[in-house]
Amino acid sequence: MKDRLKILDIWVDPVDRAQAIERVRGFLHGDRPCSIFAANPEKNFSVPKDPQLWDAFKAADLLIPDGIGIVVAARLLHGAVLQRVPGVEFMQEICRLAVEEDKSIFIYGARDDVNQAAVEQLRIRFPAIRIAGRSHGYVPEEQMAELVRSINDSGAAILFLALGSPRQEKWFAAHASELTTVKVCQGIGGTLDAITGSVKRAPDIWMQLSLEWLYRLLTDPRRIHRQRVLPIFALRVLMAMAKSNQSSIRMKHRKNKSI
Ligand code: UDP
Repeated sequence: MKDRLKILDIWVDPVDRAQAIERVRGFLHGDRPCSIFAANPEKNFSVPKDPQLWDAFKAADLLIPDGIGIVVAARLLHGAVLQRVPGVEFMQEICRLAVEEDKSIFIYGARDDVNQAAVEQLRIRFPAIRIAGRSHGYVPEEQMAELVRSINDSGAAILFLALGSPRQEKWFAAHASELTTVKVCQGIGGTLDAITGSVKRAPDIWMQLSLEWLYRLLTDPRRIHRQRVLPIFALRVLMAMAKSNQSSIRMKHRKNKSI
């Protein structure tokens, strides 16, 4: 994407929800599987460390601004006004689009009971949804060819990968070329756990205050390992901003001298 924004060591696409969903509509009418992954502060640390993840992430067809950290960083570093497009909400917008476009979906990932319960939840939320197939996320490598066959046989146009990062990005990189009917593939991480209530999302007021990350941290302190990257990310954004301000002041200074 030519207008993709660089945020420290990763990228994000400057889209709001409506633009993001229109992109997905375009993918649905394309001729190959397109990937959608989430850009968030954690990725800024995991992507550069893992060459396979880096390649899959960089080659993504859509990188959504998944969370307030990336939205604020895009504002500070590029003056861009982005909208938060959380993966868990975007997945359900894609389900709505699937109904509108009469396309079927396949859900691969999470524990079997969570996957099954998520399918039931989605059928309640979107009564006209066509769920062509599903599989839990603990398929051994020797059964992967069989899984790919069942995704293809289902005829699904949309595949949700709920394997967590970097598993889902690597799965797409390894198997996209084997998918014959899928046009849209979104990496949804722990979304099925959120949909089924195995992991609680924050109450509305926390979300309105953009504090979902804090709620999740307080209700699941194990996340501290993952969220400790947030202050480092914020610091690096501020340092990058200060550096670019300094260089634009220097440029101005040079221009004035030459006049
Ligand atoms: N998972 C899976 N297969 C695996 C490992 C994990 O399907 O081999 C699932 C796990 O059950 C959970 C999700 O992947 O539903 C990971 O969620 P997490 O919140 O860690 O992912 P994130 O949203 O942070 O990428």
